[in-house]
Amino acid sequence: MKFLIHTYGCQMNVRDSEAVEAMLLAAGHAKAESEDDAELVIVNSCTVRQKAEEKAVGKTGNLCAAGKLTGLMGCAVKRLGNDVFKRLPKLDFAVGPRAIGLIPKIVADGCFPRLELGEEMMSDALSSHVKGGFQAFVTILVGCDNRCSYCIVPDVRGHEYSRPAREIVAEVRSLVSNGVKEVCLLGQSVLRYGLRNAAWDDADAPSPGGYTEPFPRLLEALASIDGLKRIRFTSAHPKGCTDELVRAYQEFPQVCRHLHLPVQSGSDLILADMGRHYTRAEYLAATAKLRAMDPEFSLTTDVIVGYPGETEEDFEATRSLMDAAGFDNSFIFKYSPRPGTRSAAKPDDVPTAEKERRDQVLLSDQERRGLERNRRLVGTVREVMAEGPSKRNKARWSGRDGGNRIVVWDVAEGEVPASAGSLIKLRIIDAHAQILVGERE
Ligand code: SAH
Ligand code: SF4
Repeated sequence: MKFLIHTYGCQMNVRDSEAVEAMLLAAGHAKAESEDDAELVIVNSCTVRQKAEEKAVGKTGNLCAAGKLTGLMGCAVKRLGNDVFKRLPKLDFAVGPRAIGLIPKIVADGCFPRLELGEEMMSDALSSHVKGGFQAFVTILVGCDNRCSYCIVPDVRGHEYSRPAREIVAEVRSLVSNGVKEVCLLGQSVLRYGLRNAAWDDADAPSPGGYTEPFPRLLEALASIDGLKRIRFTSAHPKGCTDELVRAYQEFPQVCRHLHLPVQSGSDLILADMGRHYTRAEYLAATAKLRAMDPEFSLTTDVIVGYPGETEEDFEATRSLMDAAGFDNSFIFKYSPRPGTRSAAKPDDVPTAEKERRDQVLLSDQERRGLERNRRLVGTVREVMAEGPSKRNKARWSGRDGGNRIVVWDVAEGEVPASAGSLIKLRIIDAHAQILVGERE
């Protein structure tokens, strides 16, 4: 059967869609060229904000109306449960994020409608990859137990569970033998790797570098794989920003000097209410440690504006924290109450227009800050992994430096561009807020 998957939401969802694609290909199905060409369409949904859920459910509704075999997977399914068929009466199947390993069987059985909410993540769904790329996502930890007041992720993605280190190392070895040069390790809180359930067992040799914390130890093990050029990871919680982590960044050149460290707010009152378990000062101490190691260390973040009770003063505290941390990039979200979360019991009292204003203020601050940060790099030489021709201008190539900054460079007519996945040296000649321009050294 020819299938197509539409993906909404975070990198976890991108990774889950890839696993479903790999499993369907292994079961003998083929990827469709377009929606018209597809016999089966699956929508992978997000529910972290209400708008995200509406988009995915709306898209699914349109597909159902077109009379295609239609499936819905991901976080919105887990949240809606049985109601998913009330919202989408023509839907054929719905599968929660931990039950995606069942999709090939559901398609083969053909008994519809069917709902699978599942609790156990199946191993195929964790380890199946589509062959051919030079970059791969690798899930190291699923679920989350942090229970930040605003967040629905723990309800839909279940308890935190770290995969055994040996399984992850074997998976990365196999990816590298198939041409992968860069892995991005995924989890809601990757620095909590191996803290809730043991990821290393007695049979594993001790860390050669004397690492005692499970996540830095995993980085050490992956850095010993020949042919793996880059190791990235996301997302992180400031609590896990330990001295051993800093040592791993310093010791292993493959570990990219970038951290996505969601701060959410710069106000201690709001942070406490959110249940984030750090203060503004502790957050800034973590970022200072990373920048002391490397002033060009790239820091990115997530911020929520318009959280219940957020005053102008709280908002200004967020603004000043963002300047103090000097974020290279940031993602701003307007607060959206999610049913069943702690903060949903509070009045959503920041007016929409004010949320919009705060969003715009932070975006324009980031534009200025991003430009300032990037300008410092003009004249320096950065190591860039070549990715391919730039989407906007085919005479240019595009890649990323270790800090995950996009770098573009001109490829002269007749010049053989670098091969995708190779590391090249580029001198930075110009800077914009979101992009650097380089030239071959
Ligand atoms: N596990 C990640 C975040 C996952 S959700 C972490 O903790 O780092 C991605 C981002 O969505 C969050 O960082 C937060 O900024 C935003 N978000 C989560 N719930 C939200 C809500 N109810 N309203 C608005 N934004 C939200
Ligand atoms: Fe949500 Fe907090 Fe868990 Fe991140 S750490 S997924 S924001 S509950």
